[in-house]
Amino acid sequence: MFDLTGQVALVTGGAKGIGKGIAKVLASAGATVVIADIDETAGKASAEELGAHYFYLDVARQESCKQAVAAVMRDLERLDILCSNTGIFPQCDLASMTEQHWDEMHGINLKGTFFMVQAALEAMRTQGYGRIVITSSITGPLTGFPGWSHYAASKAGQLGFMRSAALECARDGITINAVMPGNILTEGLLAQGEDYLAQMKAAIPTHTLGTPDDIGHAVCFLASREARYITGQTLVVDGGQVLPESPEA
Ligand code: NAD
Repeated sequence: MFDLTGQVALVTGGAKGIGKGIAKVLASAGATVVIADIDETAGKASAEELGAHYFYLDVARQESCKQAVAAVMRDLERLDILCSNTGIFPQCDLASMTEQHWDEMHGINLKGTFFMVQAALEAMRTQGYGRIVITSSITGPLTGFPGWSHYAASKAGQLGFMRSAALECARDGITINAVMPGNILTEGLLAQGEDYLAQMKAAIPTHTLGTPDDIGHAVCFLASREARYITGQTLVVDGGQVLPESPEA
């Protein structure tokens, strides 16, 4: 376990699912955790359960992102770790996809990442220290799935953004990396339906879905002081789903 004692971590989309798993692991590593989420009821409940703070956040609005970071700086006086995790993934086939579907997906997943990282960087630069971990996905950068072309584009886009942003702040003591989860059992995944879950379980070499804690532990490593020499990189956490099988297997 990495020691995050004395550090302040902001987890977006931390009320539920993967974000809550990240918040839980970072809190158990000693960090003071702030859950920032659009769902006030779930956000406050998760914060109470984990001994964390809760701030309202809508990542699709730049002002809201700035306010969340400002509230962290006002109340906790520093921001060491940003986990930019919020994302949505409703399926929609390409033929019926409207501009509104596309814009909503990118407004939250991609533009929201830009808003949060930019807001956090301002605070981190004055400290000369920061760890940013973005929750991307295997879908987009490494695989495709019917009904998720807009989602896949947003998740691949996050990685392009991450790599260039990492170079821009490398001299400021700030690293930016991404985790790429496979299929992790959350409300968002359950909403994809039984057929999807069965198909995925069969495709994963371990035949098990991942848990939010699995992602939390990977994020904890990238968010630690010990990961200081890793930036602009991705860490796949998928039970081996994207590994190509050798012909002998
Ligand atoms: P989830 O739907 O279970 O939880 C998402 C959280 O984000 C919720 O608490 C929700 O209230 C919050 N949220 C939604 N819109 C928001 C907004 N505009 N502003 C602030 N908060 C908002 O989702 P999840 O499965 O935990 O996924 C989290 C992240 O992991 C996403 O980026 C997703 O793309 C990624 N991911 C998930 C899986 C998976 O299998 N679950 C796989 C790969 C990647």
